Amino acid sequence: MEHIWLPYSQMKTAPLPVEAVSTSGSTITLADGRTLIDGIASWWTACHGYNHPHIRKALIHQAETMPHIMFGGMVHKPARDLSRRLAQLLPGDLERVFFTDSGSVAMEVAAKMAIQYHINHGTKDRHKLLSFRGGYHGDTLAMMSVCDPEEGMHRLFGKALTPQIIADLPTSDATLENLKNLLTKRGHEIAAIITEPLVQGAGGMLFHTAETLRHLRQLCDEHGILLIIDEIFTGFGRTGTNFACEQAGITPDIITLSKALTGGTVPLAATIARRHVFEAFLSDDPLYALMHGPTFMANPLACAVANASLDLFEQEPRLEQVHHISTQMAEQLAPCRTLPGVKDVRVLGAIGVVELEELKNPTALGQALLKEGVWVRPFRNIVYLTPAFTITPDELSHLTHSIYRVLKERQA
Ligand code: PLP
Repeated sequence: MEHIWLPYSQMKTAPLPVEAVSTSGSTITLADGRTLIDGIASWWTACHGYNHPHIRKALIHQAETMPHIMFGGMVHKPARDLSRRLAQLLPGDLERVFFTDSGSVAMEVAAKMAIQYHINHGTKDRHKLLSFRGGYHGDTLAMMSVCDPEEGMHRLFGKALTPQIIADLPTSDATLENLKNLLTKRGHEIAAIITEPLVQGAGGMLFHTAETLRHLRQLCDEHGILLIIDEIFTGFGRTGTNFACEQAGITPDIITLSKALTGGTVPLAATIARRHVFEAFLSDDPLYALMHGPTFMANPLACAVANASLDLFEQEPRLEQVHHISTQMAEQLAPCRTLPGVKDVRVLGAIGVVELEELKNPTALGQALLKEGVWVRPFRNIVYLTPAFTITPDELSHLTHSIYRVLKERQA
């Protein structure tokens, strides 16, 4: 531990982290022999559970053939197959896939694409991004500038970041009116509107309706602004459909995917553009090209695994499983509503949330849950579950009952 710097941790006071030695299905085995039930699928990635044999087989096969090859001026079958399959799965003409290696970088690429789209069209004054309070799109500098500005994580950096336009999501008549007015004044400066669809995850698991997304699509069309939908959390079934934007019946201009893209096995992300976005980059002038290329982009191991993950979505009843998880969580988390200090209980797809009036020490609550044999990481005033879609009903009951018990004891 003398050489490790943990994420999102005050290293002076953080409790010693537990050490994982192996995983299987929805369980994590620790170095001290304990087994935990994982309630959050490794930051919302392991949708098929851990160590799925089909994914493992694809990974081993690809490791034996070609673990990595650069993507500059060279392609490979795992990436060709994956980009074709993603284009087929996504709505509308979202068909041009740019691979990266993390969600934040996929979002950086999306922002860069949107800004350059307008430059390539000769409209040079559209360089602002508009995003929403409660939003989270990554920890890199440009993405910090479009995350919620008040939320503690990035507030310190205010002066170091490029100022962007942050608005309230149009979830009511008043906020819709405000956004319309804002766009009337400043729409001509804006390259893209960025949002997470249906749920703002790291911002507090805040849900909004499909109608909000339809409003955004319409406003973008009216003002010549590109719509970037960040499905890094929501993509691949988490909200009950393959992609959350399907529930609104809209096609964004650019969509980003990561997390469950490889079933949570290896890092991979993708920024996928509609045809008209891609076409704006076609020219005899080299300056029109997208000048971006992470060293490990389209890593063949990651692409092979992502293809195996898509196979599983085709072969196994993932969306049905999400539906069952949703019903079970709604039923079993509901009693938390009766506990003092609980502000809200909400469920969307395979996302279950208990929102507290206040949570002074999320880490301590996490430690109490650990004692129950569950791996759940409360943050801010939220205790949430985003389990693997393959979790068994008994395992899920253990998670929901543990949350209820720990919250009840906290009040005692
Ligand atoms: N966008 C959303 C909606 C996310 O939830 C996250 C991560 O939680 C990111 C972007 C950033 O992804 P990464 O942590 O892979 O950089």
